[in-house]
Amino acid sequence: MLKVDRITITFGGITAVNDVSFYLPEGEILGIIGPNGSGKTTLFNIITGIYRPISGKIFLTLEDGKVRDITGLKPHRIARLKVARTFQNIKLFGYLTVIDNILLGRNLYYSKNILSVLGFEAKDYKNNREKSEEIIDFLDLKAYRYSLAKDIPLGIRKKVELARALAQQPRLLLLDEPTSGLTYEEKSEFLYYIKEINEKLGITLIIIEHDVKVISSIAKKIIALNDGKKIAEGTPDEILKNPEVIKSYLGE
Ligand code: ADP
Ligand code: MG
Repeated sequence: MLKVDRITITFGGITAVNDVSFYLPEGEILGIIGPNGSGKTTLFNIITGIYRPISGKIFLTLEDGKVRDITGLKPHRIARLKVARTFQNIKLFGYLTVIDNILLGRNLYYSKNILSVLGFEAKDYKNNREKSEEIIDFLDLKAYRYSLAKDIPLGIRKKVELARALAQQPRLLLLDEPTSGLTYEEKSEFLYYIKEINEKLGITLIIIEHDVKVISSIAKKIIALNDGKKIAEGTPDEILKNPEVIKSYLGE
């Protein structure tokens, strides 16, 4: 579904991502690990069109099987190709309700503007509302539907951000440290939903995760970054045994 081919980007003197390649078959869960500053989020920013790489290419296989070069496309155009993401630092509208934050996820490719998605224009609203309610049920967010995003606990905010990404009905979903800051119980609940998203909704996933144990329990393949470079790629077992990974990451 996704092929990342020799991607490099620099910021001033720093090579944040350095000649990174990998590919991801449809339906799988790929994990990305690496110490702080190793280029994980930057890689997401390149895949989703926020940054343009100085070299390398990104290819996405579309629903009809056609391969599309998406390198350097604008974020909203990549979103329309059904690639969605969540952010390391949650980006919700604090003074909107949970349901309205989720409805905003529908804006990206169904409606002309934010006002129509929030119900000021009846045409698309019913369908968008139904889809959002389905996701609320799926993620067990019913109790928080009409709470303001600013008033709900971190674990729920993370779920709402996930819900908003799901509202885009993505084929490929990128999660940037979805369980960071969560308690042990919240983490296992989140992992359960991630598995459901993969298995029941058939969504392909890339997950950045700091905790190697957490990612090992759900990813089929993991790649490890260090200093912008891919230093290892393999199954969770192979990654945990890899000497480079132990040196740069686990030994930290
Ligand atoms: P990670 O997500 O693995 O912690 P990042 O991808 O956020 O790492 O950052 C990788 C490196 O790129 C860091 O040195 C960071 O400071 C740098 N970087 C990322 N984005 C920018 C930017 N917009 N401007 C300057 N430097 C950046
Ligand atoms: Mg990051």
